[in-house]
This record gives sequence, C-alpha cells and structure tokens, in this order.
Amino acid sequence: MSRLTLSSLSKSFGSKTVLKGIDLEVPEGSFCALLGPSGSGKTTILNIVAGIETADTGTIDLGGRSLKGLPPERRNIGVVFQSYALFPHLSVADNIAFGLKSRKVPRADQRRKVAEVLDLVGLGELADRKPAQLSGGQQQRVALARALVIEPDLLLLDEPLSALDRKVRGDMQAELARIHREAGVTTVMVTHDQEEALSLADQVVLLNDGEIQQRDTPERMYRNPASPFVAGFMGVQHFPGVLRVAEAAGAGVGAGKTSVPAASDVLGAGDVLGAGDALGASDAVTSTSPQDHVLEVAGLALTGVDIHVPGGASSATIGTTIGTAIDAAPRTGVNVTAAIAAEAVSVCAADAAPTSAAGRATVDRIVFLGPTAEVIVSANGGPEIRALLLSRDAVGLHEGSEVEVSIDPAGVRVWAN
Ligand code: ADP
Ligand code: MG
Repeated sequence: MSRLTLSSLSKSFGSKTVLKGIDLEVPEGSFCALLGPSGSGKTTILNIVAGIETADTGTIDLGGRSLKGLPPERRNIGVVFQSYALFPHLSVADNIAFGLKSRKVPRADQRRKVAEVLDLVGLGELADRKPAQLSGGQQQRVALARALVIEPDLLLLDEPLSALDRKVRGDMQAELARIHREAGVTTVMVTHDQEEALSLADQVVLLNDGEIQQRDTPERMYRNPASPFVAGFMGVQHFPGVLRVAEAAGAGVGAGKTSVPAASDVLGAGDVLGAGDALGASDAVTSTSPQDHVLEVAGLALTGVDIHVPGGASSATIGTTIGTAIDAAPRTGVNVTAAIAAEAVSVCAADAAPTSAAGRATVDRIVFLGPTAEVIVSANGGPEIRALLLSRDAVGLHEGSEVEVSIDPAGVRVWAN
C-alpha cells in the first residue's frame, strides 16, 4: 500500500506527443479512475508506471521511492490488462501462483497465499479448473487474484471489465469495489466508461489528447464540469445559448452594480458556479444579479442562472468576461455554451404548470428505464432536451404531449464561447 505521485510525465512516439506533462497524486489506499476517449493516453500512463514503457521526462514515486530505471518485476505492482492473458494449460491455482513461483516464495507460503486470494475474489471452489472452463467474469477474477497475490504496493487495471457483458459487468463493478475495500491497495483503473469511473473511484481523472482536463471527486466532476468537453464526457447535455440582461432589469445595469475581482483572484477558464453555490468574498461577481439575466437556450428562457467564477487554476475570467460583455451589449447578449443536467429538468402537463416554467415544449419521446424515465422534449423548434424523471412523475405524459419545462438553475453551467 503506497501513495503514487506522477510529476510532469511526458511521452512521444515518433513525432506524436501522447502525454503532455501529466501530474497526478493517488493517495495511499485510494481508487483512481483514469477516464478518457480512446487514444487519449490512458494505457500509456499505466504502461509507464508499470515499467513497460519509459517516459521521456518526468518522475514516478511510489510510497516514497522513485521507480526510475526499475524493471517491471522489481516495482511490486500488480497489473490486470484488458485481455486477461491467463495461461490456458495451467489451473486457476497455478495461474495465480505463477508470480509467487518466479519470486521463489516457499511452496507452503504459495499455497496459503493462493488460498487467501482465491477467497478474496470469491473463487475458492474453482482452484483446479482450467481457464477455458470459466466464464468471462470468473477469468477476470483469476486475473485480479494473480495481480493481488504478490501483495502489490499498487494495483493497475486497464479496462478490466470491458470484455464482459452488461449484467456481469455490473456485478464485477460491485465485486471490484468490495475487493478494493478489503485489500486496501492503492488502485489506478483505466476506463472509457464514465459510469464505471463514477461508481468506483475516489478520484476521477479525465484525459483528452494527453492532457488532464479535470481531476476531481466523482460528484464534483459531474456537478462542476470544468468545460463543455468534461460535461459531455460525463453525459451532461450541452447546447449553444445566449445570455443577456432581462428586459425588466436592463435599466438597472451600470455604475454601482459592477464588482471587479481582486487582483489576487486566480480564475479557471470555465469554472462556473451554479445558483445554489456559495460565493466567497474574493469571487468574481458579474455585473448584475442572476435574476437580471436571461439564458436563452434550446428554445427556452431561464432566469436565476449564475455566471460568476470561483477561485480556480488558470488566468481566464469567464465570469467577468460574460458580465462585462453583457454590460456592453445588454440586448444582444453573449454567446455561451450551457450544460444542463437531465435531472435538473422537470416537465409537467401544460395545464398543471408552475408559474416559474422556462417555456412550453412538446414531448418527442419517452424512454422508460424502470424506476426512472427519460422524457425527451423540444421547445420552439430547438434541439432535444432530456429530462430525467421518476417514472411515476411521467405517468400521463406521452408522445405529442404539450408540457411546461422548468429547469433548476443549480443544474446549469455556462461558459463563454
Ligand atoms: P488509450 O489507452 O487512452 O486509448 P493509448 O495510451 O493506448 O490510449 O494511446 C495513446 C496514443 O499513443 C494513441 O494515439 C496511440 O496510437 C499511440 N501509441 C500508443 N502506444 C504506441 C506505440 N507503442 N507506438 C506508437 N504509438 C503508440
Ligand atoms: Mg487503452
């Protein structure tokens, strides 16, 4: 069990730069998910940590020791690859014992450790089977047991569940969570499945094109995506929109309402707070209150969406940019991208509508998912908007229903284009 620290890792293959300065800290005993589209560099990071590839620059530290120059077998890292690569002619027990044999662990210790780890992964009964006699999920457990039996300081998993069908995959996710809890080993898992990352990890790291886009807890990653790319990858719908000063508020814009951020403020591009979030004294605040803005998006008009920026990492001041731009052009407004969480959208029959509705829409489709239902609507010829409702709240709605759409501003994020 050990903390893993990557500093400024970069790697090129020929003229192609695959990793562009990766910094990452994985606390001891925690579970980190590396998420990103195919080709973003996930496997390359694992391979460098495992010692299969060498970084061009940067350092790797595991539990206080540098891994520089150490061959893979001396890093004490357990690895499970996408293809389990079990030895077909060896039994389950012998597959698992393989790493212990090559480390010259005494035979009695081998037997004890193999039995323990078989128990941990729930395969106690199947020790004598050959891999071909196992299901995909069971083979995956063997691969996991083989990686864990050496009592690694670090466990690396490369898309370990991607070859499994949906049902088995769900079961194995729960198993992986339990095994991680029980073994307590620091774990880095590569996946391109955001649900898998959100359900398993303490920390999610989203990569794109060899760069970290955001590194956060699953909940923050979903609720506070740093950019439209992150929102999209997290499954949050986003649309082009226009933010302008509301007709009624227009007269109030001007001197006295603008608050400029302190010079010490460092603001992250795309760091946008929702209406429900608390503001610190030094946060940049846009020139008017959220109630004075209208966000026109997907054929709807929303008020109450905050566009200020909290302290962040880099230099852009999106909140103030938007605020200043709106002041300059209160009527035409500013072009933005708005992400809207499906669960922030509520839909109800037009005759039962609350007064706060953002606009009227038509139901295009309803997808029943058991306890929840996705109601897909469109307003005024705009794009489709997904609303995630409890099924019972969708009763009575059907294709073609006229509905009123309300959107909780706390589920909306806005970025200047
Ligand atoms: P991911 O696991 O996120 O899908 P990889 O780390 O496997 O991505 O690959 C990142 C990029 O590096 C891809 O463009 C891939 O083609 C390239 N790449 C990976 N390994 C090699 C290699 N050994 N030689 C040349 N290019 C490679
Ligand atoms: Mg890969």
